[in-house]
Amino acid sequence: MTSSAGWYRAAQGAGLLSPAGAPAPSIFTEMSALATRTGAINLGQGFPDEDGPAEVLEAARSAISAGANQYPPGRGTADLRLAIAEHRARFWGDHRDPDTEVLVTAGATEALAAAILGLTEPGDEVVTFEPFYDAYGGLIALAGARHVTVPLHAPLFEPDPDEIRRAITDNTRIILVNTPHNPTGSMLSTEILDLIVDLANRHDAIILTDEVYEHLTYDRPHVSVTTRPGAAERTLTVSSGGKTFATTGWKIGWVTGPADLITRVTTVKQFLSYVNGAPFQPAIAVGLRLTDEYFRGIAATLRGRRGRLADGLRAAGFGVSLPAAGYFIVADAAPLGLGDAETLARELPERIGIAAIPVGAFMLPEHRERTASLLRFAFCKRDDVLTEALARLGTLRG
Ligand SMILES: *Cc1c(COP(=O)(O)O)cnc(C)c1O
Repeated sequence: MTSSAGWYRAAQGAGLLSPAGAPAPSIFTEMSALATRTGAINLGQGFPDEDGPAEVLEAARSAISAGANQYPPGRGTADLRLAIAEHRARFWGDHRDPDTEVLVTAGATEALAAAILGLTEPGDEVVTFEPFYDAYGGLIALAGARHVTVPLHAPLFEPDPDEIRRAITDNTRIILVNTPHNPTGSMLSTEILDLIVDLANRHDAIILTDEVYEHLTYDRPHVSVTTRPGAAERTLTVSSGGKTFATTGWKIGWVTGPADLITRVTTVKQFLSYVNGAPFQPAIAVGLRLTDEYFRGIAATLRGRRGRLADGLRAAGFGVSLPAAGYFIVADAAPLGLGDAETLARELPERIGIAAIPVGAFMLPEHRERTASLLRFAFCKRDDVLTEALARLGTLRG
């Protein structure tokens, strides 16, 4: 290996690469390939199988026709930044200056990457909850930072306040929060959010919060961390149009927060993608300005699908507690006498024609044992697809 091996070594340590240094085929790739080969219904990957709102799709087509096909401004089009600021004020009471406190990015992923790369020095600690969205591990490794985790405890996937207090120290540079949470669908309580804010202030850490599921909440409304007392000055909030408008392939995301932090993130972002998605930016602006009815409607539809998949998984013998938000249900295979979720995930496509992801894919390698019997199933699928999936789940014990 060459001197550029630093990231490879770090990524190997994070379990992202095979020991030989080749990119390991991720479990997501493996399961999707297996689903395709066996004709299984893919409840592994979390993308919707229906189009988003017609006005949003039409706005992208019109933007192409109207010539929005060259590099947009570095921070994103002025109108999309305005729409993002209006949307944050309208739903979450977070007031942002569209010119200095909003940055449009290539999906939430680039916002997270630019923030982590721009705000950490090698060796700084980034604290996440665990399980964690898989990109976090790779991005923290890419920055040469140290990944410290706080467990979310089954069945409700809540953290223990004492474990949070122990994890956050003067070495912590970023507390990376994800509420609502992928893969578990849990939402952090305001008590936990306030504890995080208090610790961030005490240890001079930055809160980076990934809120891409802000509108997909089923039991109580989302609370944006930055609106908690003492948070606004040190919080960067990341979101994306992908989940809210069922346009995951467009990769229009954004980050909002204090101007000095946004400038730092922008500095890194300009050397990653520079800009992206010229015709999609005005279309997402249309989406952000849709009526309250639309936002209520997507939650109501997904709430129904959550219930159906939960019933089906319970009937099949899995242990299930309802997620408060998001696209996924984490189900426990232990009650079925099937304790090894990774093996089960590899067998399910052949056996019953369903693909799912073992929760171990969202864990540090040394902690995988803790979630050994857990599988993640997506319910962001059409009703007819879910009906067929439920029928297939019903054959598991047959
Ligand atoms: C899907 C997802 C992302 C990625 O969002 P993009 O806009 O596609 O980059 C980030 N964080 C979480 C928790 C997600 O589920």
